[in-house]
Amino acid sequence: MRKIDDLSYEELKEEMLKISEPKFKASQIFDWIHKKCVDNFDEMTNISQDTKAKLNKEFEFTNAEIALKLSSKLDETKKYVIKFEDGNIVESVYLKYKFGKTACISSQVGCKMGCYFCASTKKGFIRNLTPAEMLKQVYLIQKDIKEKISNVVIMGSGEPLENFDNVVKFLNIVNDESGQNISMRKITLSTSGIVPNIYKLADLNLPITLAISLHAPTQEKREQIMPIAGRYKLEDIFKACDYYVKRTGRRLTFEYIMIEGFNDSPEDAENLSNLLKNKLANVNLIPCNYIKEADIKPSKDSDIMKFKKILADNGINATLRRELGSDINAACGQLRNDLLKM
Ligand code: SAH
Repeated sequence: MRKIDDLSYEELKEEMLKISEPKFKASQIFDWIHKKCVDNFDEMTNISQDTKAKLNKEFEFTNAEIALKLSSKLDETKKYVIKFEDGNIVESVYLKYKFGKTACISSQVGCKMGCYFCASTKKGFIRNLTPAEMLKQVYLIQKDIKEKISNVVIMGSGEPLENFDNVVKFLNIVNDESGQNISMRKITLSTSGIVPNIYKLADLNLPITLAISLHAPTQEKREQIMPIAGRYKLEDIFKACDYYVKRTGRRLTFEYIMIEGFNDSPEDAENLSNLLKNKLANVNLIPCNYIKEADIKPSKDSDIMKFKKILADNGINATLRRELGSDINAACGQLRNDLLKM
């Protein structure tokens, strides 16, 4: 049976016509599902029994629940394991920044990318998440913290640009003013650099922030830690990024995890500066998290500061990502891996 919570507002209007219901009911139902976040028809008090019976015959709801929650004792960060009806689990995180209450969500169960430093990929890829399964992560977090989420980052497990249509549908529904009404400008999508889909995204001209997981200052080093780098070369990623900036006018973010002794030397900083010269871009420096499955250590503070200074001297705008919830900060994907072993 089809899932009603996967439908955009426009699609819901069409469905109403098909079952001989007036279009305005779509607005009421969309409001129940995506603003009030109910997950059954019974609670929709302004919908008649007759309409509910018709809807029940055609549609069902996406089920998801919080299977586990870890709360930081240091700040307000919370990490969730969310379980879907087929038993698959993903991780989602709530982060409170000065600029807003942020939900970090997963876009796939597992991941195909195979990045050396990332826990999400170590157990392989299982499946794409549906739009409603991405929405559910936001709604469940919101319900749990009893406050409205203002920002969304698609930076959990999975490669969002390999689940393109579902992710775009998620963006449109979460942005809909009859639903959560989260501004596109408050949404960040992070990609390892799937070049053809960066062009596709640019052509949609959504004012989201695009973040590129760069993590290395040269093509050669990038290939050592990110298998996808062999398929899409840095040169082509930058061409796609230029196109993205031209189409959308949005500044890009480049994420650069700092791994001790691998990509954190002054020479690496110079190489990175050369790569990003004259680009409308911000660099996010992120000391890497330990993961059990890889031999990596975060860079020393002194090396990070030196690195950042070289970038600044070269006119590159870089910020160090403030670490939140460090006591529960098993890098994304680790918690799931631990649960799968049990
Ligand atoms: N596939 C997408 C989105 C998921 S990863 C992408 O690659 O961008 C989200 C971010 O978490 C990426 O920048 C990723 O590189 C980072 N990440 C993964 N493992 C990490 C680790 N061990 N320490 C710090 N950041 C990590």
